[in-house]
Amino acid sequence: MTVLDNSIRYLNGVGPVKASRLERLGVRTLGDLLFFFPRRYEDRRRIVPLKDLQADTVAASIVTVVSTDSRLSVKKRISLTRAIVSDGHGLASALWFNRKGLDRLLTSGTRVALYGKIAREGGMSQFVAPEFEILGEDEVPVQIGGIAAVYSLTAGLSDRWLRKTIRRLLDQVLPELEDHMPESILRNLDLEPLGSAIREMHCPVSPESWKRARRRLAFDELFMLQIGLAIRRRSVGELRGAPRLPLGGPLRRKIEDSLPFELTEDQSRVLAEIGTDMSSEVTMNRLLQGDVGSGKTAVATLAMMQAVDGGTQAALMVPTSILAQQHAIRLKSFLEPHGVRVGLLTGGLSAKERRVLLKEIAEGSVDLVIGTHAVIQEDVVFHRLGLIVIDEQHRFGVLQRGALGGKGEMPHVLVMTATPIPRTLALSVYGDLSVSVIRTMPEGRIPVKTRWIGEHKVDDLYGFLDSEMDRGRRVFWVCPLIEESEHLNARPLEERFDFLIRRFGSEKVSMLHGRMPMEERRSVMEGFASGERPLLASTTVIEVGVDVPEATVMVIEGAERFGLSQLHQLRGRVGRSDEQSWCFLLGKPGTHDGNRRLEAICSSSDGFEVAEADMAIRGPGEICGTRQHGLTDFKVADLIRDGELLSLARRIAIDMVDRDPALDSIPAVREMVFRMYREKLELAGTA
Ligand code: ADP
Ligand code: MG
Repeated sequence: MTVLDNSIRYLNGVGPVKASRLERLGVRTLGDLLFFFPRRYEDRRRIVPLKDLQADTVAASIVTVVSTDSRLSVKKRISLTRAIVSDGHGLASALWFNRKGLDRLLTSGTRVALYGKIAREGGMSQFVAPEFEILGEDEVPVQIGGIAAVYSLTAGLSDRWLRKTIRRLLDQVLPELEDHMPESILRNLDLEPLGSAIREMHCPVSPESWKRARRRLAFDELFMLQIGLAIRRRSVGELRGAPRLPLGGPLRRKIEDSLPFELTEDQSRVLAEIGTDMSSEVTMNRLLQGDVGSGKTAVATLAMMQAVDGGTQAALMVPTSILAQQHAIRLKSFLEPHGVRVGLLTGGLSAKERRVLLKEIAEGSVDLVIGTHAVIQEDVVFHRLGLIVIDEQHRFGVLQRGALGGKGEMPHVLVMTATPIPRTLALSVYGDLSVSVIRTMPEGRIPVKTRWIGEHKVDDLYGFLDSEMDRGRRVFWVCPLIEESEHLNARPLEERFDFLIRRFGSEKVSMLHGRMPMEERRSVMEGFASGERPLLASTTVIEVGVDVPEATVMVIEGAERFGLSQLHQLRGRVGRSDEQSWCFLLGKPGTHDGNRRLEAICSSSDGFEVAEADMAIRGPGEICGTRQHGLTDFKVADLIRDGELLSLARRIAIDMVDRDPALDSIPAVREMVFRMYREKLELAGTA
């Protein structure tokens, strides 16, 4: 406990009402308030003479009140207070709405600083509802005349009050605040001391000194997370007792030889990285990054064969049951001739089927289990699990692999993601994972052409679909689910389905959505994949992983409703052969961001570029669900802008934890890290 843990009620001027309003902003303690930083700033440093005021600008002036009057407006709804003010060289007026009693405060002769928007009224400049600060003789303004902090607004807390209250807090606690950062780091990185950095954030002296303060505090945030990740990496690194699964087993070689294609160089390289990890008793924790269609499944399959070669089982976890089925059908027909036994474990099994399968898994008569998150449910016991592969993992969130710990010995873990995570984000969030990246696509792929088309062109589109289907190609037509309060409304899909049947004929069209029974979904997918019904109207259930190489057209209706990475995922369902593929976006975005998203997806087919555009539009925390874990909920740091600082923090943190694993030399840092990340990072031990 430090003074910072005290309730904000300890502060003069904060009574129960203000306290509960602060609480709504997440501010409960003095420390919370200290780190409750402004949303933006107003530069009020330049005091403008009244004769130089310009209409439609925002300005600060120091004036003396000449006269004040108050009256009700014509409609008697609002009271108006008007003051005539002078600065010795010119006159102006100031107007306030509904500020009863103000005329008694601003009496003639009062010295006051004004800050606000300027209008032209009756041949004179007028401050419209300006902020003001009454000044004694020779007194310098505090609120006006400097750079003013603007905080998040909430009903009943004015910036003015927050500024005053926070100033009082700063005076009270900063003198006693200890800097937790070791002197050597501060010196080497030329970082501002903690106290003055915090003061500068609330009461900046200049943009330059504010930048220095921001850098210090951003470094702190990045450093604490990186220390947490380094501690976790160390403990994970020391987790021995994983099965040694040697490379070069017969099954894996046989399966690789019977693939219908040669592995790309990148696939071979990442397979070697994964294979080497798996042959060690140190538990693998590896992230496999590769754009949609880059061939991660083949890599995963061969890695799983290495596990089976080593006498263990493998599990493949995917986000949807459609995907689980698709993988199961493929892998069964491909692997079972080689004696590999494949089981499909999803929520759709009957109680009896499930019981039988669970028994086979427990006895070890199933080598490879494919499923949704049903795989990690508690009643699933493996005979000997050697490798678990988590596909399209952004759907599961970042840290769920903690739940896997209890499955058998200590299986190796391979996490695959198609949402390309920019390096800065990968480092900071998955900092304790090793990363393998597939950069190149299988040979012969032609980038998908993406077009955003207007309503008047839709008829042309129908004609184009006719000709593609005549040539044996398949078409996805995706409709958004509309969320009406709590119910997901499938009407748009059903209406579109009816329309497509009328336009293209019922023998060509089928429909797929998540609430259909599993059997029906399976037969719809099979009919589409085989070409029997080449036009599939669907919700986003086909978003991830579905692999039908003959599909060359993706139509996305209501495209403005989808996020960028989702659009990229959807588009990734086509362009899986050496034929030219197309993605058509239908939609009228009502927002600026919506426009930017559709433009971004049209202008790039590269997942990394799309992800970067996404970061720029949405901010990094939203991406791959890190926000919900609160891992990157930084107050100051910004993973896009602070990439370099992040690398620096990471290097120093790793070095620090290597030299002093218990952090005995920096107890204050240790305490903060554990406080912030013990649960989020599943850190063992205590501060
Ligand atoms: P993703 O990385 O999105 O999971 P998939 O594993 O589904 O990609 O692979 C996409 C398609 O590319 C599949 O049809 C797969 O058979 C094919 N493929 C994978 N590797 C190669 C390769 N080396 N050469 C040619 N085609 C490949
Ligand atoms: Mg995939």
